[in-house]
Amino acid sequence: MSRRKIVAGNWKMNLDRAKATALAGAVAARHAEAGGVELVLCPPAPYVAVVAEALGVAGGTSPSGVSVGGQNMHDQAGGAFTGEVAPPMLVDLGCRYVILGHSERRTLFGESDAAVNAKTKAALAAGLTPIVCVGETLEEREGDRTEAVVTTQVRGSLAGLSPADLERVVIAYEPVWAIGTGRVATPRQAQEVHALIRGLVAGLASPAVAAAVRIQYGGSVKPDNAADLASQPDIDGALVGGASLKADDFLGIARAFA
Ligand code: PEP
Repeated sequence: MSRRKIVAGNWKMNLDRAKATALAGAVAARHAEAGGVELVLCPPAPYVAVVAEALGVAGGTSPSGVSVGGQNMHDQAGGAFTGEVAPPMLVDLGCRYVILGHSERRTLFGESDAAVNAKTKAALAAGLTPIVCVGETLEEREGDRTEAVVTTQVRGSLAGLSPADLERVVIAYEPVWAIGTGRVATPRQAQEVHALIRGLVAGLASPAVAAAVRIQYGGSVKPDNAADLASQPDIDGALVGGASLKADDFLGIARAFA
């Protein structure tokens, strides 16, 4: 089963309008350097439209093939939820993807597996591809609880999805201790958890769905460590934070997965 590799940039709460425009323009202009790896840019919500425009996104397609994604969304399609963003709004602005359950959402904003599950279903219903994040803290890893924690998160976040919907989901394994710390998981540590996640998807749906689902690694991925991660059989791309803010680094990482 060949899975198209996917590298997504999580810009978090960084950049401004001019910088977001310039970065998106640079990635679009140089997308061929990624050698067929799918590229997704996830700007802060106020700049989604700006980035979609810089990429020339129209009617859900982008001439360069580079997609736009949200970093979060509400699980309702609209209503009295001050400050929130509805799934159809992301679609309306040209998004194809949305990151859900990022560890910063889970730890800083109290998002539970049940909340991530509701958002995942809402994203799929709106036609978005969710990038569902899971991963253990350092304390959990050192306490030998990685398998238990990731299993609970995967089962909880993806509960009740049909096999067809599960196949559309992208899962990002992001050990919390590796995010923004410069401390990357070893390829072996990452592969171990990716294989665990693929096995969990097989149990939730089928071996065929598990073989098709794309699982990204995230946590201090840089151009100089991406190739080792990319060499692992169950690592299908990367979710990139810090290094996605520079076109050279982001494309360098993507190239490693080509
Ligand atoms: C992230 O926030 O999803 C992430 C992986 O960040 P970084 O690459 O900076 O560790």
